[in-house]
Amino acid sequence: MRVLISGASVAGPVLAFWLVRHGASVTVVEQAPSLRMGGQLVDLRGKASHEILKRAGLTEAVRAASEAAEGLSLVGRDGRRQATVRSSEFGGNGPVAEIEILRGNLSEVFYEQTREDVEYVFGDRIAGLDDREDGVHVTFERGPARVFDAVVGADGLHSGVRRLLFGDEKPLRHLDMYLSFWTAKNHLGLKGWTEVYSEPGRTVLMRAIRDNTAVMAAAAFVSPAFQYDYRDLGALKTVVRSRLAGMGWEADRLLAQMDDAGDFYFDSASQVLLPSWSKGRIGLVGDAGYCASPLSGHGTTMALVGAYVLAGELARADGDVAAGFRAYETRLRPWIEQIQRFAEGNGVSMAPKTGLGIFARRAALRLVELLPKVNLPRAGTGRLSDGFQLPDYERKTP
Ligand SMILES: Cc1cc2nc3c(=O)[nH]c(=O)nc-3n(C[C@H](O)[C@H](O)[C@H](O)COP(=O)(O)OP(=O)(O)OC[C@H]3O[C@@H](n4cnc5c(N)ncnc54)[C@H](O)[C@@H]3O)c2cc1C
Repeated sequence: MRVLISGASVAGPVLAFWLVRHGASVTVVEQAPSLRMGGQLVDLRGKASHEILKRAGLTEAVRAASEAAEGLSLVGRDGRRQATVRSSEFGGNGPVAEIEILRGNLSEVFYEQTREDVEYVFGDRIAGLDDREDGVHVTFERGPARVFDAVVGADGLHSGVRRLLFGDEKPLRHLDMYLSFWTAKNHLGLKGWTEVYSEPGRTVLMRAIRDNTAVMAAAAFVSPAFQYDYRDLGALKTVVRSRLAGMGWEADRLLAQMDDAGDFYFDSASQVLLPSWSKGRIGLVGDAGYCASPLSGHGTTMALVGAYVLAGELARADGDVAAGFRAYETRLRPWIEQIQRFAEGNGVSMAPKTGLGIFARRAALRLVELLPKVNLPRAGTGRLSDGFQLPDYERKTP
């Protein structure tokens, strides 16, 4: 089977890895000129993602590239810690996940594992798709036209393959929040730690990364949807600066470093809701097909698990690519929809809209801190992360 994947971030290289294991011949086309190393911390949660890393023989490689995650404090305007949770208190299922890794580092682990066996084409993108009897005829913006047995869009929230399949970005559901991430100096000397400061409708946070030599700075603000070009970084920085203007704590210091950061990232907290993730021999995986937004804390987990399941179902379908896509969706969709529903209401914990909301969040965290046996939040996200039963495709039986 000849498979073309669009996008070399997380879902793309993971899918390539498993397809090669199942004997496929794989090409990945990525619009960036080389592997994109930017991006901030992403989480891997739940038993299924751990099992996939184990089956891939990559647990150690991913752990070695991960960041220490000790815990998180809510702080006041003056920087005093008001409530604190340690990651161990949630067993890796709370606000701090068990594996937190820089997106580029995770991407690199799977890229390095596949680069010998997979054809990576950087600096190009799919221009046209035509699903015919003898295969999917693909035209590229730069390279020559080619034919594949299956095409998969692993090209993120603003997926080009999704647009070619289903039209414009109407399936995006905006969750009334925008998020931004960039690297800054660790001037507070945080050690494996996150500090979060909120005012009504807006939040800034710092999370120590790269052996505590830097921090991931993040900003979130509540806002109805507005028009923006997600590639115009200068304009987006102006938006973030104006939305966070006048905030207390370390906000000004962090905002002042945005221009120097080579990895500034901004996007809306949006979900992709599609009635179907495929059409014929063309399908979608990861954020392209079913983004739940960073508010879910599960975007990368869903990309990893989705890629594993898609590779397995395509292999099992034995040449009937459309049936493989359908089987993958049937298996995965109930779990994905649960996560999307969970993320819908999660904006309040990232950036509460009112002073009362900020107070309630602090009180809830204090409760967990003071009564370690209160396990409501633990049970909630734990059950969600572990809610998918991973099939074993290497055994060849359902
Ligand atoms: C540079 C970058 C930084 C990020 N930073 C963060 C972060 O700080 N925090 C967070 O929570 N999430 C971040 N994300 C999103 C996060 O990686 C995803 O939510 C999650 O890991 C699922 O990954 P994915 O592979 O499905 O999609 P993505 O990670 O979005 O990857 C999509 C890939 O497809 C490529 N692509 C897009 N369009 C095309 C096209 N038409 N043709 C070819 N290639 C295309 C992109 O360049 C990218 O490499 C970031 C994504 C990127 C690309």
